[in-house]
Amino acid sequence: MDELRKLINEVDNSILELLSKRDNLAVEVIKKKNLDNLPLRDAERERQLLGRIIEQARKLGLDTHFIQKIFYEIIDESIRTQQLYLHKSGNKHLLHDSNQKIRVAIQGIEGAYSYLASQKFFSKENAQIEYISKEQFEEVIQAVENEEADYAVLPIENTTSGAINEVYDLLMNTTLSIIGEEKFQVKHCLVGTKDVSIGSITKIYAHYQAAVQCSSFLATLPNSSVEYFKDTAMSVQRIKVEENPLFAAIASEQAAEFFGLKILRKNIANQPGNYTRFLIASRKAVTVDNRIPAKISMILATTHSPGSLVEALSVFKRYGINMTKLQSRPIMGNPWEEMFYLDFMGNLEDDKVQNLIDELGIHTRFMKILGCYPSKEIDRTKLEEHQLEVTEAVESASENSEEKKTVQKPIIKKSYKLASREYKSEDTIIKVGGVEIGGNEFVVMSGPCSVESKEQILSCAKEAKSFNSQILRGGCFKPRTSPYSFQGLGFEGLNYLKEAGTAYNMPIITEVLSTSHVFEIAKYSDMLQVGARNMQNFELLKQVGKTARPVMLKRGMMATLNDLLNAAEYILAQGNRQVILCERGIRTFENATRNTLDISAVPVLKELTHLPVIVDPSHAVGFRDKVIPLAKAAKVVGAHGIMVEFHPDPSVALSDGEQALTYDMFEQLMRDLQAIK
Ligand code: PEP
Ligand code: MN
Repeated sequence: MDELRKLINEVDNSILELLSKRDNLAVEVIKKKNLDNLPLRDAERERQLLGRIIEQARKLGLDTHFIQKIFYEIIDESIRTQQLYLHKSGNKHLLHDSNQKIRVAIQGIEGAYSYLASQKFFSKENAQIEYISKEQFEEVIQAVENEEADYAVLPIENTTSGAINEVYDLLMNTTLSIIGEEKFQVKHCLVGTKDVSIGSITKIYAHYQAAVQCSSFLATLPNSSVEYFKDTAMSVQRIKVEENPLFAAIASEQAAEFFGLKILRKNIANQPGNYTRFLIASRKAVTVDNRIPAKISMILATTHSPGSLVEALSVFKRYGINMTKLQSRPIMGNPWEEMFYLDFMGNLEDDKVQNLIDELGIHTRFMKILGCYPSKEIDRTKLEEHQLEVTEAVESASENSEEKKTVQKPIIKKSYKLASREYKSEDTIIKVGGVEIGGNEFVVMSGPCSVESKEQILSCAKEAKSFNSQILRGGCFKPRTSPYSFQGLGFEGLNYLKEAGTAYNMPIITEVLSTSHVFEIAKYSDMLQVGARNMQNFELLKQVGKTARPVMLKRGMMATLNDLLNAAEYILAQGNRQVILCERGIRTFENATRNTLDISAVPVLKELTHLPVIVDPSHAVGFRDKVIPLAKAAKVVGAHGIMVEFHPDPSVALSDGEQALTYDMFEQLMRDLQAIK
């Protein structure tokens, strides 16, 4: 027996050595393919290889099914090796040597599923791996954002219990990019400290998701109660510490092994094929070689018009692009509105995918590309089981006839594209609360230049509401010419503004001055204003472009309409498709007024762009007695609305008092506007 076992060991060692040799050859093959720019897969060669092996196996009297199974795995592994080589040579920042260390942030401790999935994802990594364990998913993301870790590994969905909503919500706000995915088969076991009968167990520690996935098994143990833990490994750690033989935990086999515990029962999940998909995120995005099947993850919110989701989805059908995931999540702060998270097969570097994204953009008000990364799925080359020599051609996925269809697209030669009428012919209608900007309704945004106190803004809100102004404005962060002038109440002012908007059921708009405030202000303000002085603050434009709030972009004092449209493009290109343009007067040689209202901007912009156009007569003219006629002119020339300043007592206003309407004048204005049809 010993002799036989020794011989078997020798054979196994030879198998391993040969596998290693084969793996090294795979690397040589990909180097050559890379040099000669050859495709990664050659279906014909794979079919021949498999056919030959099956034939050989049959001659040797081996089970051909068994051999086919093994060789599918071997070929998969060879493809993984080659893909990884190509991927790393195209993304030098992913190359590490063995003295380097990479830090991987996970939720939970070592032994948890996130840990096991990370080990699988980084299994071919040369560098040493340090795991940084965090309690919350949010902390995992923060650890990478603030450079405490290099990668975040996050579970996103499970085949039994579904989406992990918290992670989806966090992806909306992170600056990280998804650089990879991993699928991990979760095999839940009941784990204990001693061999006891399962019926005697009184308490089971489990992660909430794990308990849901094993609900049928748990229902068979009426004498035990379930206590929830943040992660699987922690529950195992706890029973190890407590050493009570009547306590058990739900965990993986590997976790039981990791903590030296006993497996009381294997395979306790409701569904046998229980997989969790993990996403790997990092600060730097990756590009994917066009020879590697790639996946794109994105978030989008469709326009408010009926059927817009169907239209957005039909774009995928038209392009023959396969969507692998569609998940909806409510938009925080906007009840009954939803964002969609979707994954599809495609490479961002592919023109066809860029065209698809452009078309998708027409039906969306917000989109964010979370990343483009190598897909974990490997298409296996099909081989009939009786096949010895294969002659018939098998259509590969990329030759699919549906995919070959090309879609005619207009070529836009302007320096801005997304803002242009050529890109989107219908007017964009932006919905804020119940108000539609850009449609048939003439929208009046009104309020004080600055929020000065709670009483002041509440009084203004009441006035605005009573005379049918739809949106309440108020500056909290003020861009003042002199540093000694009133600079605004900041976040305190924003609280008052929000309170006033809520009290009178009006959406609010306030100006953002700095990139670092954008996300915080976007939490409270229904709309964001970028002021004239910041029209070409490109970092600020990009930042507001990453939020899902409508942005009103004011024309710079010395900006042409072309400059304005290009500035809008900065916002749109980031994914936020809800931009409203505002003509607020420009500097000319005329000095009788504060600025010169360029009324012709309205019809010209309406021809050039699908975005809504509104007019601010207050900052344009600078004197309250001239505001009403200019506001009326705005309506006559076809603006979608106005923004106007008023104050309970303009003589004591802390900013822009000369142009603030009194309440009486504001009421007159609202009556006059009503009379214009
Ligand atoms: C404002 O609307 O408060 C403002 C500062 O306007 P502008 O950026 O047009 O000067
Ligand atoms: Mn002002």
